[in-house]
Amino acid sequence: MQTFLRPKLLVSKCIEFDHCRYDGSMINSKLVEDLKEYVDFIPVCAEMEIGLPSPRQSLRLIGNENDQRLVRSADGKDYTEAMDTFSEKFLKENTKGIDGAIIKSKSPSCGLREVKVYQSYGKSSVVTKKAQGRFGKQLTEMHHMLPVEDEARLSNFAIRESFLTKIFLIAKFKDACGIRKMRDLVDFHSRNKYLLMMYNQSQLKYLGNLVANRDKKKPEEVYDLYYENLLKALSKTPSYKTKINMLLHIFGYFSNELNNDEKVFFLDTLEKFRDSKVPFSVPLSVLQTWAFRFNKEYLKNQTIFNLYPPELMTVTDSGKGRERE
Ligand code: SF4
Repeated sequence: MQTFLRPKLLVSKCIEFDHCRYDGSMINSKLVEDLKEYVDFIPVCAEMEIGLPSPRQSLRLIGNENDQRLVRSADGKDYTEAMDTFSEKFLKENTKGIDGAIIKSKSPSCGLREVKVYQSYGKSSVVTKKAQGRFGKQLTEMHHMLPVEDEARLSNFAIRESFLTKIFLIAKFKDACGIRKMRDLVDFHSRNKYLLMMYNQSQLKYLGNLVANRDKKKPEEVYDLYYENLLKALSKTPSYKTKINMLLHIFGYFSNELNNDEKVFFLDTLEKFRDSKVPFSVPLSVLQTWAFRFNKEYLKNQTIFNLYPPELMTVTDSGKGRERE
């Protein structure tokens, strides 16, 4: 039975934690609500931390695509310095061990992308929608390799699945880091072989060489290099092609055991997946069933079959999600 470690996530406090938005409201997110049972959250509201009340007059970014100030929309009072100083201090002191973050979309403070930038305060037109909020910008600069998403993008099935996969994997790696024994790292790598293959086959190979440690590096050094390159591997989104490639590799395990009809059935299921007629979980479940039926110990322990707690899987919520990104 697979156990999952509790990832540590930074979260915008207005998502399911507090009524701290400019209008006194809170954002509802089923994902964040469900995650509370499995994750240690660090909630923060940057605007309240710089002394603003809730409700309050709204803030906005003004400037151009390359340079913005954070000001009060009504009268232009400038909060840029206060926000930047708070963000730097808070992120340095509180986010060292996080495994990812869930941030409120489009906020001039928290937003990670597509934040509106206005010409000026008061009545004014939007110049661009490409900026980041001041807090969101510092967060992504400091943790550019970690999974950091906003609640709006997480309504997409594929993005949500990838995010959950990464945070639970990173938490597991950190746990394996505990005493830094090479044997634990070899075990971690081995259990995650097919998961990593789906993300990035060349990084899988590189990580395999690191674990083999032919040049006899110290375990601490190997662990640090492994972590860096694990994050690099996870920074790619699995493509349709890499998913099918990984599924075929696992399918190869059963070539002597399956009869012809079963092989045709699986290849037909793969075709349906390729044509977006069935989700990724369908061919994957077929392979997992065979791993148990033919008692393939190595496969049974692969994390690809247990990416994150199944209670977090919302099959009915396809949202804007698609399997292909
Ligand atoms: S978006 Fe960020 S700053 Fe704005 S209310 Fe939410 S947590 Fe606070």
